[in-house]
Amino acid sequence: MSGPVIALVTSAGGGPDRASLEALTVARQIAAATGSPVEAIVVAERSSAGGAAASLAGLGVARAIVVEDDRLTPDHPDGWAAAVAQVAETRATSAIVGPGTERGNDLLARVAARLDLPMAANCLTVEPGATWAISRQRWAGSLIEDCRLTARIKVLTIAPNTVAAGAPDGGAAPAVESVPVTLTDADLAVHVTGREAPERGKISLTDAKVVVGGGRGVGSGEGFAELEELASLLGGAVGGSRVVTSAGWRPHADQIGQTGLRIAPDVYIACGISGAIQHIVGCKAAKHIVAINTDAEAPIMGVADYAVIGDQIRRRSPVRA
Ligand SMILES: Cc1cc2nc3c(=O)[nH]c(=O)nc-3n(C[C@H](O)[C@H](O)[C@H](O)COP(=O)(O)OP(=O)(O)OC[C@H]3O[C@@H](n4cnc5c(N)ncnc54)[C@H](O)[C@@H]3O)c2cc1C
Repeated sequence: MSGPVIALVTSAGGGPDRASLEALTVARQIAAATGSPVEAIVVAERSSAGGAAASLAGLGVARAIVVEDDRLTPDHPDGWAAAVAQVAETRATSAIVGPGTERGNDLLARVAARLDLPMAANCLTVEPGATWAISRQRWAGSLIEDCRLTARIKVLTIAPNTVAAGAPDGGAAPAVESVPVTLTDADLAVHVTGREAPERGKISLTDAKVVVGGGRGVGSGEGFAELEELASLLGGAVGGSRVVTSAGWRPHADQIGQTGLRIAPDVYIACGISGAIQHIVGCKAAKHIVAINTDAEAPIMGVADYAVIGDQIRRRSPVRA
């Protein structure tokens, strides 16, 4: 029997988030292939860790590890990295598997650095063997890389929404084991200092069925008033390219793309946006893309289902389907 596969579980609203349950499903598949037990580290306040562990009932987790340090909150990535690294080293761990979310990738990259290990982020398939065969997303999903991973502990994250999370089978909750760790003040120095809630009543870009996006072609922050009006008529939300967030025309939270949000609306209306690859990776999951652009050769035309070739400001364009 190999050492345990540790699943890193982050939470949302009290229970494990969906991406963690997907990663746990892969952790179970790896454990079955290597003859290992599955253990879980739940990233939660110590006071709520017991409840979070109970929510893993029936999901094939033999043991839920609760880190013994009341100073540790989910907002201490370095503190958690230190804790996970210490737990992994003391248990002959064969793999650590977490969600390929910003949080999961951030945390496990820190763990890998502390243990001087390689990390395979955003995996799609994992086949354990003498060396592990892995396919994973690169460049925000624009490329699929096939690679081999050799390391004493395999550190992996699973690309979200690429694996169906296994349903609970009615089995028991995992045994809870409280594990002491040694954390220094330096481990706790990096932490989230505040959160900004989106405006009340505003439809979020990631939930909206219609998104109106604006780019440099909108011309100014004031130019977004028309886009707001259109979005409001369609019950949608307004986003933008990095050019407009860098220029301060829109807040950074509205940026769509590789370094912004990934959206998946029914319709995305891209106004004055050229369609750089870094923007497209954020909107390519839209069911339909409508591009409004003066340049018929702009890259956005290559992905648009419908195009208006013309000036989005003066609204005098012929429509081309
Ligand atoms: C590491 C990295 C990460 C990045 N991440 C992101 C990201 O997350 N999101 C993102 O968007 N970008 C990102 N970028 C930037 C990206 O490469 C592009 O520079 C950016 O998307 C371009 O924004 P744009 O389309 O608004 O501007 P431009 O490329 O300047 O295009 C403006 C378009 O508007 C059209 N136009 C001009 N006037 C009008 C008008 N009156 N009516 C209609 N059309 C008009 C033009 O023909 C042109 O096609 C990233 C870049 C890097 C290097």
